[in-house]
Amino acid sequence: MSIEVESNEAQEIKVNLARVSRKVEQLEQQYQRKVGSVRVLAVSKTKPLSALEAAYSAGQRAFGENYVQEAVDKYHALAHLSDIEWHFIGPIQSNKSRLIAETMHWVHSVDREKIARRLSEQRPDDLPALNVCIQVNISGEDTKAGVTLSELNDMVALVAELPNLRLRGLMAIPAPQDNHDAQCAVYEPLAQAFVELSKSDSMIDTLSIGMSGDLPAAIESGSTMVRVGTAIFGERDYSAKA
Ligand SMILES: *Cc1c(COP(=O)(O)O)cnc(C)c1O
Repeated sequence: MSIEVESNEAQEIKVNLARVSRKVEQLEQQYQRKVGSVRVLAVSKTKPLSALEAAYSAGQRAFGENYVQEAVDKYHALAHLSDIEWHFIGPIQSNKSRLIAETMHWVHSVDREKIARRLSEQRPDDLPALNVCIQVNISGEDTKAGVTLSELNDMVALVAELPNLRLRGLMAIPAPQDNHDAQCAVYEPLAQAFVELSKSDSMIDTLSIGMSGDLPAAIESGSTMVRVGTAIFGERDYSAKA
């Protein structure tokens, strides 16, 4: 029998995950949200397999990745952890859509018709429908991906028609704001659109907003899935990747 020694990295991730889930629970109570109604997606982009394995050992199952090749490599490398739920949350180039359709369980960043159509066409028949969120641009910046709120209804109608996609909700990455009230103000129209949408379709249950820096505002605004990277895995070192 061997004695397993947890690395420092693994211990830290375990402590961080526990801290994040306590924080989420406290915020659910503070903002009169049902306890357990906000899921934590662990955003593991740029982090090594050992970090994901540590989070998995601590009970985390939903992981979010931003870069297609990295996501697919991790999907294959961790295939033995067969109950991981893989979420793709990054920008999608159309020539990479097949890799996503063949591996991921969720895509949060569906932001145009061409991508939605390709993901549905390329989803293998032996896999369940791909869960998708439509990414909405709520900051009005030209550079940010996502449909505008005025384009949302058309995109919803399109995704609803595609046989191998299952529309689950909306996602947004707002521009950073100075304070809680400003963060909530930016989320407000999105939150309203989500409430309307979820009334029309019982499968629509996911509002993917909130990152390490704005959990209170996101949870007050109705988030059902926060995407947390830094607060779980620590700062990202992009220089190591390039
Ligand atoms: C990186 C990333 C996150 C996590 O950000 P943190 O600030 O590290 O929590 C969440 N969502 C998206 C789309 C991201 O790219």
